Amino acid sequence: MKTFSIVSLGCHKNLVDSEYICERLIQAGYRQVSDESQAATIVVNTCAFLRCAVEESIQTMLECIEEGKEVICAGCLVSRYRDELLAELPEIRLFAGPGTYANIPVALEKNQSYLAPVFDAVVSRSFCSTGSVAYLKISEGCSNRCNYCLIPALRGELISKPMNAILDESRGLVERGAREIILVGQDLGSYGRDIGLSYGLETIIEQISTIEGITWIRVMYVHPASLSPELIELISSNPKVCPYIDLPIQHVSEKVLRAMGRRGGAAAIRKAFELLDPHEDIWVRSTVMVGHPGEDQEDFEELKAFISEGHIEHLGVFGFSPEPGTPSYAMRKQVDNQTIELRRNSIMSIQQAISCKKLGSLIGKTIQVLVEDYHPETELLLKARASFQAPDVDGMVIINQGNATFGNFYPVEIRETLEYDLIGRII
Ligand code: SF4
Repeated sequence: MKTFSIVSLGCHKNLVDSEYICERLIQAGYRQVSDESQAATIVVNTCAFLRCAVEESIQTMLECIEEGKEVICAGCLVSRYRDELLAELPEIRLFAGPGTYANIPVALEKNQSYLAPVFDAVVSRSFCSTGSVAYLKISEGCSNRCNYCLIPALRGELISKPMNAILDESRGLVERGAREIILVGQDLGSYGRDIGLSYGLETIIEQISTIEGITWIRVMYVHPASLSPELIELISSNPKVCPYIDLPIQHVSEKVLRAMGRRGGAAAIRKAFELLDPHEDIWVRSTVMVGHPGEDQEDFEELKAFISEGHIEHLGVFGFSPEPGTPSYAMRKQVDNQTIELRRNSIMSIQQAISCKKLGSLIGKTIQVLVEDYHPETELLLKARASFQAPDVDGMVIINQGNATFGNFYPVEIRETLEYDLIGRII
């Protein structure tokens, strides 16, 4: 029996694809091993969103080749560079573009070396590698076409997964132990637009919430221009939906948002926070980008002022990365890297103070958490998350008193806080 291992790079949408690839290879008779050194074949599911991700993807594959492994290259690198890769990386056994993963076992049998990307469906799988949390990709691709972004080129136009397929997949993931379902896509707010659905996201969340065994449903990646009062009402009132939303705004300056090609511009962001601000129970995650071509000091000050108002609980701050093939790459008035770094650090320090204040307000309170594992540094502590914390990006709840079974929910009294984490005891 041939053995394989998988390296999943990039975003959680790519992780879902990796799980799908695992499922297909296992069904084709391969055995998955977690220790790469024991695997004959390594699948590297690549990311190519930014040049640094491209470099990491290629470096990872070259290291596997040096160890004498048979390497399969999947993911966005194949979309970005297509069959050029055959000449550049002849050591790679197979290049499989997004949308072709079901054909990997047959392609290996037939000694094929390249499967061109196909953008015609969204993968569904029941295999889950993340324990009591499962990512559920409800759409693929994006039709927003922001000027700095390669996703539409790497993943195609928006394709929504049929509702029945989403519900079947949710039930399958719950049967395998998922208690938290995290909805992902490039812009969840656009879900269903390509298949004639209105309020598609709201409807599918309602339906998923009727499935027994699910405790938390989390909504990630909603474009501000897609945010509806109905979605906020649902997040605020449905007990299974986490009081949380990920709403990437990128900037607040009308001039910069127009240069970025952001749908709805500054008006969409103002409207989104007019809708959200009254709901203090809903925690907002967002991302902003500094240094986009054309951003001047005045624009930056406008962004700083907005962030200082404290509308956002969790914030990711990125510096503009000029990607060949995007309209922003060719724009004049590029901002120098030193200025980008200064602006990024400035926003980060403002947000750190906001985060500390918000977390500090929870001391003495009791909150429900999902206990996931031991703390990464010591088994004397447990790692958990609250409903307002997404995995990997929003900090954790560190438990220093009380016993727990991983994958279960417990009431925790918060006693201390760190910059981005909470510390408490199970009661
Ligand atoms: S909405 Fe997001 S994924 Fe879509 S084009 Fe814009 S930045 Fe890219």
